[in-house]
Amino acid sequence: MGKRDYYEVLGVSKNASDAEIKSAFRKLAKKYHPDVSKEPDAAEKFKEAQEAYAVLSDENKRRQYDQYGHAAFDQMNGGTGGFDFSGFDFSDIFGDLFGGGFGFGNSSKRRNRPTKGRDTLMHIELSFEEAVFGCKKTINLNVLDECSECNGKGGHGESTCSKCHGSGEVTSEQRTIFGSFMTKTTCSTCKGTGKIFKTTCSKCRGKGQVKANKDIEVKIPAGVDTGNQLRVAGKGEAGTNGGPNGDVYLEFTVQDHPLYIRNENDVYLHLPLTITEAVLGCKKDIPTLYGDVTLSIPAGAQNNDKHRLKGKGIEDVSYHKKGDMYVVINVIIPRSLTREQKKIFNELSETKLNDEVEFKKIDKYRNK
Ligand SMILES: [Zn+2]
Ligand SMILES: [Zn+2]
Repeated sequence: MGKRDYYEVLGVSKNASDAEIKSAFRKLAKKYHPDVSKEPDAAEKFKEAQEAYAVLSDENKRRQYDQYGHAAFDQMNGGTGGFDFSGFDFSDIFGDLFGGGFGFGNSSKRRNRPTKGRDTLMHIELSFEEAVFGCKKTINLNVLDECSECNGKGGHGESTCSKCHGSGEVTSEQRTIFGSFMTKTTCSTCKGTGKIFKTTCSKCRGKGQVKANKDIEVKIPAGVDTGNQLRVAGKGEAGTNGGPNGDVYLEFTVQDHPLYIRNENDVYLHLPLTITEAVLGCKKDIPTLYGDVTLSIPAGAQNNDKHRLKGKGIEDVSYHKKGDMYVVINVIIPRSLTREQKKIFNELSETKLNDEVEFKKIDKYRNK
């Protein structure tokens, strides 16, 4: 597939500001706009730049892209790999670039122009396991949906507005002392849509959209973490005048696990050892995310020793490579002893057991 990195396409750095991105795109658009460019591959170059700009100029989409790369937009588009930027309004860019009305973005913004529905952001709470292994969730959404009664048209018995002849605008002449001026205004009969209906739809009262409560099934990939967002394309609010639906963004909060501590894709587990297990060494069954694993602890284990279990961490949400698990030794010193045990410890203390112990400076307490 070899799709180029969007930042590379626009020739900007990963932390480029919105203004830099806009200006980089304007330069490319000027160079490759198919209507003006003589370069042989102008159309492709132009499309590539357009796509990169549509993503990087949108705060949400850019964050998605930074996190998941191109995959962010592939997986929810039915795997076609195509990027859908219909509904993206380039007119503010092209309007001043080509003096308006130049192929794109006809400067008069008519109200019957297809408009993409609004995006919706939802917060979703996941259990630790759901986030680690991925899951299917039924999400209940309250969004504006296309009215089923009138198919989003707002009425029945459609005909072209007779006042504006479907243009949505009326031209009127204004006479002033300086002469007459022709002014264009939005048609009051059809409110700029160019169409009128015999009857207004009773279900949506002419709006073409109704508030709807609907459930959607979402597959949440393995490895998501708190703050990650997932875009579910086309499930947001209905578009108007045949425009595409908005998107739903799911932002996750992952609950803590009673035992594991997550750090990116690594997992930390404290392993409690008795004093004899630590001194003599032992074998321990470690509950990993993928079942128990036996770990051999060598004799003389120290507090905070880390044992790495490679690949027993969390699968990365975009690269699918697994992190590691770290088992951290936590020696539990007994708080009380039986008489028998006390005798043994007393005997032990008379041996040269504690020869190693001497005053030492421990750097971690130093004030930085
Ligand atoms: Zn009209
Ligand atoms: Zn309706």
